[in-house]
Amino acid sequence: MAGGCTFLIVANRLPVDRVTDATGKAAWRRSPGGLVTAIAPVLQRRHGAWLGWAGAADEDLKPFEDDGMHLIPVPLSAEEVQDYYEGFSNATLWPLYHDVVGEPVYERSFWEAYQRVNRRFAEMAAEVAAPGAVVWVQDYQLQLVPAMLRELRPDLRIGFFLHIPFPPMELFYRLPWRRQIVEGLLGADLVGFQRPGAASNFIRLCRRLLNLKYQGNQVFVDDRVVRAQAFPISVDFNELDEVVRRPQTWRRAAQIREELGNPQKILLGVDRLDYTKGIGQRLSAFGELLGSGDIAPGEAVFVQIATPSRERVEQYRLLRDEIELQVGRINGEHARLGAPPVHYLHTSYSRAELAALYCAADVMVVTPLRDGMNLVAKEYVSCRGDQQGALVLSEFAGAADELRQAFLVNPYDIDGLKKIMLEAMRANPAELAKRMRAMRRRVATYDVDRWAADFMDALESHDETSREGR
Ligand code: ADP
Repeated sequence: MAGGCTFLIVANRLPVDRVTDATGKAAWRRSPGGLVTAIAPVLQRRHGAWLGWAGAADEDLKPFEDDGMHLIPVPLSAEEVQDYYEGFSNATLWPLYHDVVGEPVYERSFWEAYQRVNRRFAEMAAEVAAPGAVVWVQDYQLQLVPAMLRELRPDLRIGFFLHIPFPPMELFYRLPWRRQIVEGLLGADLVGFQRPGAASNFIRLCRRLLNLKYQGNQVFVDDRVVRAQAFPISVDFNELDEVVRRPQTWRRAAQIREELGNPQKILLGVDRLDYTKGIGQRLSAFGELLGSGDIAPGEAVFVQIATPSRERVEQYRLLRDEIELQVGRINGEHARLGAPPVHYLHTSYSRAELAALYCAADVMVVTPLRDGMNLVAKEYVSCRGDQQGALVLSEFAGAADELRQAFLVNPYDIDGLKKIMLEAMRANPAELAKRMRAMRRRVATYDVDRWAADFMDALESHDETSREGR
């Protein structure tokens, strides 16, 4: 049975959050973040729909309209949230796909829930999609959906985009359900990744694991062609650029510096509290620089904003304890009264306040051990219209492919990290301007609109009957 939607986004979460308005009534508010900003206009233009979980367990909501978007909630039971979402998605796939920097849990009941929930998403999508509709499936929680959906609705054009890294074959092979995942993805016409290396990992896997033929970025599956290609996601450059053109943003940035005791240098980290982000490594480096006297007392402060996340997964609770212990130690050893060298905050900030923090930061420290892209790095660049500020960036973030003029670093190398942090702190304004100008050109050109447009163009121009090289 076909429905009436000609364009459909399928994602784990709907693009809205539940809020309580002034009168105490429950309402919906568009979720912050680049993905929603990029896709919402496409959805509104094409009168499309978005299918996803509303965020609370055991709830059966009817489809509704919000902000010009047709939203279709997918129900999840409390047990499914535990096994499919916290389990298979965040305790199995997340660490496996991020270079095993955390130990993945291989649990058969998680896998069962993952299949069951993926099937529900696919069935609901099959029901609402119009004949020949375009369906764009998002991210690692839904890798089985493309094949399940194709089986139900071979008439659809299906795209898939993976927002997180795709691991090398040697790591992916550990997954007991490796074959099913690759077959699931191959249900799509176009499989998008953040980096070209991830697309190559996937193609290599298709060849080795499934014995499929390929040429360039095309994999031949039965009588179909599947393309695997990189589409690096980005941020809304113009929105941030506009925020920092307002004088109040710079006034606020100056105020932040004053509140921090007017240090010569402010170093900033902004992350979800996740073991992939390398927060411990950067704090170690900063602590050692204070200990050795390379950074004089009062010369620099480190502001680390760490939003707690996934707190029901044990590794995340342990990480939080570790980081808090580390911050306590550094401050215990190096703080003077009223002047701790590390400011550690769990606060969630508005875009304007975050932009002011970026403007106040002399050195932005982005040191993930592995990251699909890292939007914080691109947001920092978007905010530095003054052409100043230094970006210290891990080689293991997707953003490093594009932001070649950053102070690139291997975050596992603490001595290297110390050296590059000092270099970034001491770089002269002319050098900083040269680097920042080049990085801004890149982010301004390849912004999030361009990302969505490039993916949609590739999906819609995909010629599934192409037989080149067979
Ligand atoms: P991930 O998606 O793994 O969390 P990214 O760096 O790609 O990492 O994206 C994080 C996003 O969350 C960025 O857009 C960033 O601005 C936002 N963010 C992170 N911490 C906060 C915070 N404390 N308040 C508001 N936004 C935040």
